[in-house]
Amino acid sequence: MSLVVEKFGGTSVGSVDRINAVADKLIERQAKGEKLVVVVSAMSGETNRLIGLAKEITQQPSAREMDVLVSTGEQVTIALLSMALHKRGNDARSYTGGQVSIRTDNVYSKARIQNIDAERIQTDLEKGRIVVIAGFQGIDEFGNITTLGRGGSDTTAVAVAAAINADECRIYTDVDGIYTTDPRVVPTAKRLEKITVEEMLELASLGAKVLQTRSVEFAGKYKVPLRVLSSFKEGLGTLIVYEDEDASMEAPLISGIAFQRDEAKLTIRGIPDHPGVAHQVLGPISDAHINVDVIIQNASAKGLTDLTFTVPRADYQACLGILDTLVADLGAKDIKGDDKIAKLSIVGVGMRSHSGVANKMFKTLADNDINIQMISTSEIKVSVIVEESKLDKAVESLHKAFDLEN
Ligand code: ADP
Ligand code: ASP
Ligand code: MG
Repeated sequence: MSLVVEKFGGTSVGSVDRINAVADKLIERQAKGEKLVVVVSAMSGETNRLIGLAKEITQQPSAREMDVLVSTGEQVTIALLSMALHKRGNDARSYTGGQVSIRTDNVYSKARIQNIDAERIQTDLEKGRIVVIAGFQGIDEFGNITTLGRGGSDTTAVAVAAAINADECRIYTDVDGIYTTDPRVVPTAKRLEKITVEEMLELASLGAKVLQTRSVEFAGKYKVPLRVLSSFKEGLGTLIVYEDEDASMEAPLISGIAFQRDEAKLTIRGIPDHPGVAHQVLGPISDAHINVDVIIQNASAKGLTDLTFTVPRADYQACLGILDTLVADLGAKDIKGDDKIAKLSIVGVGMRSHSGVANKMFKTLADNDINIQMISTSEIKVSVIVEESKLDKAVESLHKAFDLEN
């Protein structure tokens, strides 16, 4: 009898009809001999609605209470899905993260899973129950409710699969697999039959929200057999593969394109250039828990240099404030900022063995009159910062230039 963890995202449980449809499928699969653990998200839109309620009360809600609040969305879904399963004759049990001891650290809103108590899950499975677990949430050592970051139900599912040593973890969503790029932006994007875990990790961390980055990290660490599929139509979806299984596969040059819209860029100009400048500028940003992404320091001219870096757009105003207080101390000239930028990345393990990939990217963007503001590369990706209004065109033209539709 195979043991499977299935995760259903917001749209897949977005209405009572959808929850009933999920329950029908689960009963069907159980009848075919699968032991099932199900992880669900909040109904679509619910997490945003809850965040909106908090913001109506205060712009600075307590991080602890935010997690108490947003974790309720998933609690609604586990109860409704369990009721739908009861109606179909299964003695399903629902559990919040705390109830199955999904122990995390205590970093509210981006907690990391440390341990899961598999015993309770196993006991239910042995009794023929379908186990329904709330995604996205856990509990810290003091019993505080924590959440795992947006999209965190993916991570719950993969972590549960690792903890119970499942034969497969299936992530059901509103697209039928992982595509060469977001199919909502490029309609000719192609579904991939498989993708290596390292490429998926890059795509996720560079903005493809189809899987939360941490879920891919977990999958890689524990080699969890992981598949992404549609909850709306039948199909094989996309399998995440681990290097050893994949040796025979001829790696394509580029596997996918990812992008992130909500970025901002700041430049501090005319800083007297001496050892410690980057630390003096970026230290206070990091102390404010703001994630700096791409960084460029210009070659200095006449002893003065410029430092440019990108941050999430939500942190833009806070960053401007911090730099304002630094300008005088550093003896710098001024600050410039732009919060209408986006990051676009091409990803592929094939890049390791082929040169000219970055150049082809730059030429394609130039041919389409898209200015590159910053560049950053690693072994299997090239990222560029462009004007946000040019992003869709940039993605489309690169998708075509690298022949991803075929
Ligand atoms: P869920 O609510 O099921 O967790 P998400 O909205 O978090 O679903 O993730 C699915 C969405 O991810 C898709 O609707 C799609 O727009 C987006 N997406 C971005 N990049 C990709 C990609 N490369 N392949 C598939 N989907 C992608
Ligand atoms: N409900 C949470 C969110 O909207 C977690 C998830 O859906 O994975 O981010
Ligand atoms: Mg998601």
